[in-house]
Order: sequence, then C-alpha cells, then structure tokens
Amino acid sequence: MDLTGKVALVTGASRGIGRAIALRLAAAGADVVVTATSQGAADATAAEVEKLGRKALAVKADVSAAAEVEALFGAVTETFGKVDILVNNAGITKDGLLVRMKEDDWDNVLDVNLKGMFLCTREAAKLMTKARFGRIVNISSVVGESGNAGQANYAASKAGMLGFTKSVARELAKRNVTVNAVTPGFIETDMTSVLPEKAREALLQQIPLERLGSAENIADAVCFLVSGRADYITGQVLAVNGGMHM
Ligand code: NAD
Repeated sequence: MDLTGKVALVTGASRGIGRAIALRLAAAGADVVVTATSQGAADATAAEVEKLGRKALAVKADVSAAAEVEALFGAVTETFGKVDILVNNAGITKDGLLVRMKEDDWDNVLDVNLKGMFLCTREAAKLMTKARFGRIVNISSVVGESGNAGQANYAASKAGMLGFTKSVARELAKRNVTVNAVTPGFIETDMTSVLPEKAREALLQQIPLERLGSAENIADAVCFLVSGRADYITGQVLAVNGGMHM
C-alpha cells in the first residue's frame, strides 16, 4: 500500500487512534497534516512523522469551529497545494444516562463528532473534486451501529456519521472521490482507559476475539481504504471490532 506523493490530513492526531493513523500513512509514504486542539500535541506527532522521512504540518484547530477549519485548509493549501486523503478522526465522549444528560453534553458531542466532520469534509471536497481525486475516511464507532446505554449523544453522532458517509459518497463518486467509514470496536486508548475494571470484564465477554483492539488495527484498515487497493470501494462501513457486532 504505497502512498508516496500523497498528502493526508488526520484530525485529532495527537494521540490514540489518530496518532496511529498519521504514523501508518506516513510509513506508507504520505506527507501528513496533523491537527489537534493543542499546538504542542500536534507538533509532537508531526515530529514523529518527520522521523519517518516524510513532510509534516502541525496545525492547532478545533474541528467544530468553521473559521478554524477554513484556516486549517488555507494552511494546507499554502504548504502542499492539495489534500488527497482526509481522515475525520477527532471525537469526544460526554457520557450519561438520557434523563440526566445536559444540553451542553449533547451539543458538544454532536458539534465535534458530527459537525466537525461536515466542516472538514466540505473544505476537503472543494479541493478533491477540482483535482478529481480524493479518499475520505470517517472514524465512526461500533456504538453507532449497535447503540449503547449511557451514550445516546455519542451513538447518535456516530450513526449520523454513517448516513453522512453514504450520502457524500454518492455525491462525490463522479469526481473519483471515495468516502468510507470505519467502525472501531473497543480500542485501547485514553478514551477507554477510564473504563472501570468491572465494565472492562463485561465488555471482553462480548468480544469473540476476547481482547480490545489496538490503535494500529484501526490504522491498518484506514491505510487500506485510502490506498490503491481500495479504488472501487465507496460508501462502505468497515467494522474493526473483534467480532463484537456482526
Ligand atoms: P482520544 O481521546 O485518545 O483522542 C481524540 C483526539 O481527538 C485527540 O487528539 C484530541 O485532541 C482530538 N480532539 C478532541 N476534540 C477535538 C476538537 N474539537 N477538534 C479537533 N480535535 C479534537 O480518542 P481515541 O480513542 O483515539 O478516538 C479517536 C476516534 O475514534 C474518535 O472519533 C472516537 O470516537 C473513535 N472511536 C474510539 C474508540 C475507542 O475504543 N477508543 C472506539 C470507537 C470509535
């Protein structure tokens, strides 16, 4: 899976799954734009990309803020003149049972996970349709497919990402831009490190492969979807969940 000459933008690439994706795409030959909510964190991943011999651009950007997303794509255009690959990975959780869920917890999760994806994809699509090439991957979640008690806001955002993926895949296909989603199961990152031991044990019982996934498992799936090996795949949802949801 050779990505030499491609420019990839990965949102929320300071740690966890986003960082693993940025490094996987760089290892496959891509130059990488790394975004995060703090400049220092984006710089750290960018330095690792450069260690792999690729160019990197680190940009502090909140994906839910339209002006920051526009500035981000302005910086990308100025530095690289194009973007071939967009991975909408930035995401947050604000869990709680429905009857106690605060309006802010609903709004924040929908703003980052769903609106953030919309804003980034809209900017990327302008460049990709002009270039008649683009590969977009949206990082949704198994929870968007199966639902999860205590995560109504998060599950709604992640299910929304799937409807968006399929609609935009239909819209952009004639310009050779593919749009797919990956639905990770439970992956070892900061997001899942907060799970209490009991919840973790209960979770493992639902996973046929009997282990949590790694960020690299997700990065491998993304690398495939943006590579030449997946040229005829669009509008699809690739589940990487150890068999947890079939
Ligand atoms: P994480 O919390 O370790 O990292 C999230 C990243 O998103 C960080 O880099 C953070 O800076 C960035 N981010 C948060 N808010 C942002 C904003 N407003 N603008 C830009 N960046 C922002 O999470 P992770 O576990 O690596 O998850 C990455 C993605 O994978 C998320 O979309 C998450 O929903 C999804 N996911 C994770 C799991 C899991 O088990 N860890 C499972 C399914 C899906």
